[in-house]
Parts: sequence; structure tokens; C-alpha cells
Amino acid sequence: MAWWKKHSNGNGNGNNNRVGDSSIHIHPSVDHGVVPGSANFGGGTLRCHCGRDPVEVTIKGNSAHNHVCGCTKCWKPDGALFSMVAVVPRDNLRVTANANKLKIVDPSAAIQRHACVECGVHMYGRIENKGHPFYGLDFIHTELSNQVGWSAPEFAAFVSSIVEAGTRPDDMPAIRARLRELRLEPYDCLSPALMDLIAAHTAKSKRLETV
Ligand SMILES: [Zn+2]
Ligand SMILES: [Zn+2]
Repeated sequence: MAWWKKHSNGNGNGNNNRVGDSSIHIHPSVDHGVVPGSANFGGGTLRCHCGRDPVEVTIKGNSAHNHVCGCTKCWKPDGALFSMVAVVPRDNLRVTANANKLKIVDPSAAIQRHACVECGVHMYGRIENKGHPFYGLDFIHTELSNQVGWSAPEFAAFVSSIVEAGTRPDDMPAIRARLRELRLEPYDCLSPALMDLIAAHTAKSKRLETV
């Protein structure tokens, strides 16, 4: 049994001398340990929180680059410090029910987050700017699906931004320790792999400008 299962029955007086604090609510999907994804998962359906006529988004294939995100723009479930967000190719995403309930949260943002006007859940984020490094990818919250097998979160992005949302700076060391304990390496921007991808895209666009 994994250590996080042993510790999930409350804070007993046992030999709990770990640096991480499991009372920290990173995100409900990871608070009891990160669930591994399945390599041959074929996709599934995301539903908003409306009890009646939920917005439904159907995804073909698995997600990628799943991570928890501390920025102030991503949708977070109640009580969570982080959102959990992954990407899928935009051609693999279709709104399959109650599309009339979707509205773009901030049309001027780079990522246009389509949210349900009734329950407030963000169903997907889309980039319309063809020059953006992530153009062609949509952002989704795989927790909105009850299927199991979505790619697992791999790191924590924009960690320091949770201070902007009200977390006390003094609490940050414990939060970073908890993220490391969950093997979600904390970064204050995106992961090195994604930062490299953005930089490569910028370099390529600059080269194109100078030819
Ligand atoms: Zn809704
Ligand atoms: Zn975010």
C-alpha cells in the first residue's frame, strides 16, 4: 500500500514526520495521491456541474501535459489551491450538448475559456491566435469526466501565483513540500519542457521575420 493511503485516515499520533502536510488542499484529484493515466485510454466526456442539462464536451483520445496550475485564470473547484489542466488537439474536442450555455469568460485573454453560465465551470480553453506557441491545443479539466485513464498530472505550474489569490507567503514552503511529496515538481512558470517549447517557437518566429 502506498504511503499516502496509510496516511489518509486522519492525523493520528503515529510517526508522521513527513515534511508534506496532507491537510493542504492542492486539488481533490491529487490530494490522496496522483492516479496514473492509462497509455491506451481512448478519450471520454466532460460534463459541467449543472444537475439539469449539463454542458457536455466529448474528447477523442487522451489528454497530454496534465498539471496543476496556480494561476488566477484557470477554473478551480471549491476549496482547491490549484486547478488541474491538460491539453488536447483542438480537432479532438467537440461540444456535444447544451452548447448554448457556454460563454467566453474574457474574450481578450490569450486562452479563451468557455464557461457554463449557470454553474461557472470552465469546459475548455481555446487559443484563436495562430501565432501563439500553443495554437492548436485546447485546455481541459479532466476531472469533469468520470472515466478513468486520463493522463496524470506531471508538475505544478505558476505556483507562486496562488499568493495573488490570497495564500499567505508563509504557507508557501509547506505547499511546495506537499507538491514535491506528490511528485508534482513546483515551478513558478511552466515546466522546463514547455518553456523550451515556447522559446523554440519564439526563436523560429524571429528567424522567419528576418528572412
Ligand atoms: Zn453548468
Ligand atoms: Zn492556470
